[in-house]
Amino acid sequence: MPLPQSAVELAPIPAPASFESDMDRPVPFDAGTAVLLDCPDPAAAPWLERHFADWFGTQAPRVVADAGEGARPAAPALPPGDEAYAAEAGEGGVRIAAHTLAGARWAACSLRQLAIARRGTMRTEGRLLPSLRISDAPRLALRAVHLCWFPETPPAWIERAIRLAALLKFNCAILEPWGTFRSARHPWFGWPDAPATPEALGRLAAIGRDLGLVLVPQLNAFGHASLSRTGSLKHAALDLHPEYEPLFEPGGWNWCLSNPEARRVVRELADELHEACGRPPLFHLGCDEAQPPSCPECRRRPYGELVREHVASLAAFLRERGARPMVWHDMLLDRADPRWKGFVASGSPETAALADTLPKDVVVCDWQYADRDPARPPDDWPTMAHFLEKGFAVAGCPWLNLGAMEPMAAFLAARGGLGLVATTWQRQGGTVWRDILRTAAGAAWGTPPRPAATQFDTAFAVALRLAERDAGVRSYPATGLCADQLALP
Ligand SMILES: [Zn+2]
Repeated sequence: MPLPQSAVELAPIPAPASFESDMDRPVPFDAGTAVLLDCPDPAAAPWLERHFADWFGTQAPRVVADAGEGARPAAPALPPGDEAYAAEAGEGGVRIAAHTLAGARWAACSLRQLAIARRGTMRTEGRLLPSLRISDAPRLALRAVHLCWFPETPPAWIERAIRLAALLKFNCAILEPWGTFRSARHPWFGWPDAPATPEALGRLAAIGRDLGLVLVPQLNAFGHASLSRTGSLKHAALDLHPEYEPLFEPGGWNWCLSNPEARRVVRELADELHEACGRPPLFHLGCDEAQPPSCPECRRRPYGELVREHVASLAAFLRERGARPMVWHDMLLDRADPRWKGFVASGSPETAALADTLPKDVVVCDWQYADRDPARPPDDWPTMAHFLEKGFAVAGCPWLNLGAMEPMAAFLAARGGLGLVATTWQRQGGTVWRDILRTAAGAAWGTPPRPAATQFDTAFAVALRLAERDAGVRSYPATGLCADQLALP
């Protein structure tokens, strides 16, 4: 696909191949413009009107829904799919076509990033679009970012990240509180003054919903029960509340799965988190990197059986609430199995047997962070193939492995996989975070990332600044990629 000319700032670049734009033939995009909308979804026109007003104020273009055939400029083809859109700006004006509100939203995200202030004035007085024709649709159904809410994470950063993800056309944000969820039923589970209150989560979920992005909460239901980075040896429950020791395996890494009280607490926390996030259709149960059991009760039974019982009962609980569970993949693979050599696998034969017994509506999030053997062909993903063959919906998670994002997404698209999850972990700013998002956005959508400009990454800066504006960012440290530019290398 030829890349569009350099005067256009947009990420991800539209797919599959139809993107023509010409900033040398600009088109007005202001209060004098009527955006002709061709979309059968009655929610689309009010959404566009409301958001154009938010974004452009008195300079907002008008939205004219269901314009008659004669009024329409020649349309670029609208691809199939709920999230597809077509857009055009030219001598005949500006036009958006979509099947649903979801597609109309992505069209608006594209036009918003492409619109620049009209030239020649001090302050913005209306905008210009390049002449353009876009015919666009994503290749993967699930395009997720995974965001960690640490005690150190500025709360405003989460909202900006969610808004930025939506601008980059991600449709899901998995939010993992690291001891930062404030549970009403179990206030001991988390650090004092935990910022992720039900109100805060509900507000973020509503922002996401409005922008076409589902906020999916994560609760580590098996290992990682300390809710703290491993190297910190902190424990968000036991450090300040040692009285809850029986709920965890000795030392505190796994929940004690043989303890009915532990399982009740996990279920109640899941219930609260799911409710706080507005009962989304997905819920992430974590379940990665657990350790073998060390308490006498958990050691009495085959551990795989205990884990299966726990995860299956949580899955059934979530199903009743209308949510599909997601789990990390690694405990479902025996680390000693030679088939996974060079790939992440953390389980034992007992936990690997779970892959045959877990309900098939569980979404397996297969995280492969290591550099791949260059001798392997790019479409050789044995662990993801394994879970697909077993009938699971599979999402690939590449984290810092930027080079793996495109082949991983292409493999999943070709094999009917569900999507891509861009994990970011403790990277909450900086050029690495930027590269994760921009590369994953392109891979999940099905286009190459826009090459960064030599001096200043203008395409990403445009999206980031729009997200900051929407999130109400007004302080120096909260803007850009870092809080302290002197700390940059
Ligand atoms: Zn135990």
